Amino acid sequence: MTASHRLSPHELAALKADHPVEAMIGARVKLGRANARGIRSGACLCDPVRGKSPLWLDTRSQTWGCLKGAGCGGGDVFDYLAQWEGLDFLSALRRLGGDRVAASPEEVAAAQDTRDRRRREQEEREAAELERQRERAWSIWTSAGPSAGTIVDAYFRWRGIEPLVSVSLRYSADEAYFDAGDDVDARPVVIWRGPCMVAAIRRQSGVFGGVHRTWLDPRLATGGLPEGASGKATIVRADGTALPAKKMRGIKRGGAIRLNDLAPGQARAVLIIGEGIETTATALQACQRHATGARFVGWAAGDLGNIAGGGLGPSTPHLSNDIRKGTGGDIEKDTTGRLG
Ligand SMILES: [Zn+2]
Repeated sequence: MTASHRLSPHELAALKADHPVEAMIGARVKLGRANARGIRSGACLCDPVRGKSPLWLDTRSQTWGCLKGAGCGGGDVFDYLAQWEGLDFLSALRRLGGDRVAASPEEVAAAQDTRDRRRREQEEREAAELERQRERAWSIWTSAGPSAGTIVDAYFRWRGIEPLVSVSLRYSADEAYFDAGDDVDARPVVIWRGPCMVAAIRRQSGVFGGVHRTWLDPRLATGGLPEGASGKATIVRADGTALPAKKMRGIKRGGAIRLNDLAPGQARAVLIIGEGIETTATALQACQRHATGARFVGWAAGDLGNIAGGGLGPSTPHLSNDIRKGTGGDIEKDTTGRLG
């Protein structure tokens, strides 16, 4: 009988949990701090060029992969041991101690306790990091001022949209854009400053979740914007790499930028969900102008993934109640304010 036959799926899962691939990879390459989704990245063993970080590690599932895709494969701890230590499954099992004789009930219980504790600690670390990001986002939001009458209006006009007045939109005249380059060790530095549209992302409960920022082309204020320009700032690194003019901070998943409130009335409520603020506003304004017999509400999800969802976790309650809550007046950081 081979060792693999002695391991139940449960025991195999326990073995993996006791030997996080994160620690093994972390011992060989420098991994950056986990992002909000629990992903760390770093230089891959296939091409350890400083400044490039194609290797990703999912701290939650303890899986990994390489974006270079140069035959690095990816997967779990066994895939790691196969790829980078040349171990077949049985050798990997021996390496992880999975071939030892069955443990006593006490040992099994103690191991389970350790795993539970590790998982709790991991969840607490993630929750604390998310809260830290949300705090920073809140400080960005509260530092910004009203958007009406600013270059934000000019930006919407440039995009062919009526200027949008929304409690979810603010303006910062001199917003700093930080960039750390590709180097996971580098400290972010300010590479651009300028006018910026700051949008609040609300969580399902209505509380503040984070900010979505769009840096705008300063020529919107001064004139001289060439035909075909996007109206967004052109932000490039010293090495010429173009960077997105939009950034998100805080908790985006499941949240939305709620552009308007549901108007009072009896007509049916229609929720329009789009990706960006501009695309959602375009659809919202077109519907409001041309479609009758309905009250339209526009929510921008920030990105496509946030519209599609991951199909993970508990199902989402029907949105109709959230639509009625609307923007709920002032955005509150930790209470739902005047919602409901
Ligand atoms: Zn690789």
